[in-house]
Amino acid sequence: MIIVLKKDRDESQYKHLLEWIKSLGLKTDISEGENSLVMGLVGDTSRVDIDLVRSLDIVEDVKRIQEPFKMANRKFHPEDTVVKIGDVEIGGGTFAYIAGPCSVESEAQIIEVAAAVKAAGAKILRGGAFKPRTSPYAFQGLRDEGIRLLLRAKEETGLPIVTEIMSEVHIDLFRDLDIVQIGARDMQNFELLKAVGKMGKPVVLKRGIAATVQEWLMSAEYLMSEGCHDVILCERGIRTYETSTRNTLDISAVPVLKELTHLPVIVDPSHASGVARYVKPLSKAAAAAGADGVMIEVHNDPPRALCDGAQSLRPEQFRDVVTEVNEVLKAVGKRV
Ligand code: PEP
Ligand code: MN
Repeated sequence: MIIVLKKDRDESQYKHLLEWIKSLGLKTDISEGENSLVMGLVGDTSRVDIDLVRSLDIVEDVKRIQEPFKMANRKFHPEDTVVKIGDVEIGGGTFAYIAGPCSVESEAQIIEVAAAVKAAGAKILRGGAFKPRTSPYAFQGLRDEGIRLLLRAKEETGLPIVTEIMSEVHIDLFRDLDIVQIGARDMQNFELLKAVGKMGKPVVLKRGIAATVQEWLMSAEYLMSEGCHDVILCERGIRTYETSTRNTLDISAVPVLKELTHLPVIVDPSHASGVARYVKPLSKAAAAAGADGVMIEVHNDPPRALCDGAQSLRPEQFRDVVTEVNEVLKAVGKRV
C-alpha cells in the first residue's frame, strides 16, 4: 500500500499516522518528491482500513499495490535510485562502465587488466574469485587469494570492486569489497539473498537463466527487505531455444524494468552472447534501450583465459566499445 501525503501537511497529524502504522507492525519506506511525499507500507497491510486513511486531512491519495514486489516497486519510490560507490554513481542520469576479467588469475593479470580498463573508461573493476562453473573439473577461481588480489588491484588503481559471492560462509571475506554480486545461478538462493541483504553493501543481482522479470524483482525484494536499498539489476541473457548465442539478451527487460522499478538496470553483453564480437552491438543496444551501465568481460590475453575467453575483449577492443557507446549515450541524453 502507498499513502501519498499532501505537501502542506500538519506535522503532528503526520507523526500520529506514523505511530499508528508502526503499531500495526508495519514498516514505512518514505520518498520525498517535489510536490508530495510517498509513503510505502511494508508488511501485511490487510488490516489497514483504506477508507479511514483516505479520510485524513493530510492524505492526498491511498493505493493498494497489486504487484508482490513492494520496496522495489516504482510506485513505492517514484524517483530513480542512484547507487553511490565513492564518487561513482549507478542509476539516475549516468551510465557506468564495469569491466574486468571473468576470473582473477594472478596478481599481474588483474593489475594489468584493471589499469587498462580504467584507462579506457571503466569506473568499476569486475573479476571473479569464487566461480560458479557447470563442471566441477573446471577452474573454480582463486577463492580467498582471488579476493586478496582484487584488493591489490583496488590499491593500485583506486577502482571499486564487484565480485561474486556464492556462499554465506564467505561473507567475512567480502568485508573490504565495494559491491557484492549474486550470480544468475543463485538468483533464487533465498538464504544467500537474506544473508547478503544484511551486509550493508550494494549488490549486483544478476537475472536467473530462466527467471521472469517478476521473479527477479522478488529476489531484489528479498535483499531490500533485509535493509539493502542499493540493488543493481543485471540482465545477462536468458535461456531460449536459440543456439547461436550462449544466452539470449532480453533487451526488452530494460524498458520493462525501468517502468516497474526505481532500481538501476545494467546489461552484461558478455554472458548474454558468449561471443566477443557481439559485445559492442549489444552494449550499444543496452545504452539505447535505457540501461544505466554495462558489465563487460575484458582479458589481457583472451585465448589463454582460464574462463570465458571466447567472450572476453582485449583492452583495446573495450576502449572501442566505450567510444561507440558514448556516442549512443549522447543521443539518449545520459552522462558517463
Ligand atoms: C559472472 O559475471 O562472472 C558470471 C558468472 O555471470 P552469470 O552469473 O551471469 O553467469
Ligand atoms: Mn564469465
